[in-house]
Amino acid sequence: MPARETGRVIPRQRTDVDKFSLRLLSVPFQLPISFEFFPPRTEEQELILDSTCKLLTPLAPEYLSVTFGAGGSTLSATRKTVLRLQQETGISAAPHISCMAPDRQAVLDLLNEYRAAGVDRLVVLRGDRPSGVSGPGPFQYANELVSFVRRETGDHFHIEVACYPEFHPESDCPDTEMQFFRKKVEAGADGAITQYFFNADSYFRFRDDCERRGIDVPITPGIMPITNFKQLARFSDMCGAEIPMWIRKRLEAYGDDGAAIREFGTEVVSRLCERLVRGGVPALHFYTLNRANATLRILKNLKSV
Ligand SMILES: Cc1cc2nc3c(=O)[nH]c(=O)nc-3n(C[C@H](O)[C@H](O)[C@H](O)COP(=O)(O)OP(=O)(O)OC[C@H]3O[C@@H](n4cnc5c(N)ncnc54)[C@H](O)[C@@H]3O)c2cc1C
Repeated sequence: MPARETGRVIPRQRTDVDKFSLRLLSVPFQLPISFEFFPPRTEEQELILDSTCKLLTPLAPEYLSVTFGAGGSTLSATRKTVLRLQQETGISAAPHISCMAPDRQAVLDLLNEYRAAGVDRLVVLRGDRPSGVSGPGPFQYANELVSFVRRETGDHFHIEVACYPEFHPESDCPDTEMQFFRKKVEAGADGAITQYFFNADSYFRFRDDCERRGIDVPITPGIMPITNFKQLARFSDMCGAEIPMWIRKRLEAYGDDGAAIREFGTEVVSRLCERLVRGGVPALHFYTLNRANATLRILKNLKSV
């Protein structure tokens, strides 16, 4: 039985953004914003996501995206969360889908289910193979999955793909990686969301390279709020995103002082976003990790720019 019905009290998320700022924030941004969530696995996580949505959806995001677990796990959890968010918030929900599928029919069934539920956006990825799993599934790279979605569903879905201003960890060289990125766009992607980065120049360089090569889809920066150094360092090691030394050293020096990490992190990421906004980005996509506060603090700072 859900915790809500048992009367068990689960601590709700409190926001440290004051009421005035929240009212200010609820005026929609000029720039489209979107929020990324992971599917909750426990009742407590579900309640946290509920309260996060209550705080973030008044900002009128363009869409809410929902990840899948490594190796294609949590597929049913992704589906359940997408359908719930779409129904309860009325905001377009975009499932992430990956090449880690048992076969083409399974992907087709999923696409049909999403279509029937009114889902019209996807984030299409290769995903990472879990260790111990070898051999390709029905699709080896994301461009093949994008082609499949287009072939089977035409223009129904708006498709975002991933891109890497600081390069994908498996990348051999910038030129080849750009050719592979082009393949995804030519296969039918409407736009791309970047891996997170803390160096705005890497984004601008990547965007300029795309423009020079005639790759003309909007490139939305993926923004990772900084709230927890150990977690951030772990993610960054896995995905190849660089934490610049001047940021790393300071975060390390704060040790267990969470408040200092959050304050410094908010300032760093707010300044990054300001530079990106001034540099003409088409939108901002926030990796919220299902929490509202860090994202709200950054958006509050952006509102006052
Ligand atoms: C916005 C965003 C959302 C994400 N969401 C999730 C998620 O929900 N769940 C999750 O597990 N992971 C997620 N990831 C991580 C992503 O799955 C990994 O980075 C994965 O390793 C690569 O996915 P991709 O779609 O970029 O792959 P691809 O575009 O297929 O590229 C993978 C690698 O193969 C190379 N390559 C591409 N095409 C070819 C080709 N034809 N021949 C040879 N090499 C090629 C590329 O250069 C790259 O090095 C996300 C990443 C981003 C940026």
